Amino acid sequence: MGEFELIRQYFMPLARLHGSRSVLLGPGDDCAIQSIPPGSDLVFSIDTLVEGVHFPIGYRPDFLGWRALAVATSDLAAMGAEPACFTLALTLPEVDEPWLRGFARGLGRAAESFGLVLAGGDTTRGPLALSLQVHGLVEQGLAIRRAGASVGDLVVVSGTLGDAGAALDYLDALSPSEDEQCVLEQYHHPQPRLKLGIALRGLATAAIDVSDGLLADLNHILESSGVGANIVRAQVPVSLALARLKGDAAVDYALNSGDDYELCATIPEATWATAPEALKQHFTVVGAIEPAPGLRLDGIDVASGSEATGFDHFRRRA
Ligand SMILES: [Mg+2]
Repeated sequence: MGEFELIRQYFMPLARLHGSRSVLLGPGDDCAIQSIPPGSDLVFSIDTLVEGVHFPIGYRPDFLGWRALAVATSDLAAMGAEPACFTLALTLPEVDEPWLRGFARGLGRAAESFGLVLAGGDTTRGPLALSLQVHGLVEQGLAIRRAGASVGDLVVVSGTLGDAGAALDYLDALSPSEDEQCVLEQYHHPQPRLKLGIALRGLATAAIDVSDGLLADLNHILESSGVGANIVRAQVPVSLALARLKGDAAVDYALNSGDDYELCATIPEATWATAPEALKQHFTVVGAIEPAPGLRLDGIDVASGSEATGFDHFRRRA
């Protein structure tokens, strides 16, 4: 099967998904064309995933398709952007049709779920790796950056943290328990918090998606914003499944392990107090921004990120 046939059969269907009104021309020409509506900013981001580094060797292709697009799209969520389209550069060791069918199925499900249309791409031969660039739109000037946190802001996180990091312990389990299946699902099928990111526009002063662990990612906000923070360990949200599996260590997974793709944001206390309940119910207040630089856990300095020992990360990035 040649490159053109491969693209026609497996990837063109993803270019016809409804979802983006801004793509004027998709795959098949020298470039794709995206129209930027007046009053909008284009935000875009690229992620590269390499087999054995960012995902396990022999990983299920449909899971990989979902996960790869979810990971990339999560960066749009962190900026409060609405997804528009994506491009894919796929490097394959060989044309393996069952693999391609599974990969395209997972990728297509994710694209439809997130509202993204495939606008173009490239395939080449080599060790398995993929790069996905996602494009999103946000009202002019309203993209949420990392640099806006200030003293008096609360630190909030969406959902629960730590499941995906714990899942690495069970990837090879032959018959995982119900709780193990729960955390594995979080690893295999992360959900970028697109609606929550959009809802944070105009409320959050800074935001980031939790790809490397709460401490490491919050630290990016602190460094960009020139402030510090204190996190209250007992307030860090973990799932019941993770609490049952890991006991007292569950919070360590939540603090130090990545891959959950929840959002961490900073919000002025007064804004939080009057924020809609429908939004607040998705977030937990875990701490507060402080003037002294650095990150503290229950008042004690932590060297964020570098403390993440004992976790086998398939993925680590800024
Ligand atoms: Mg990110």
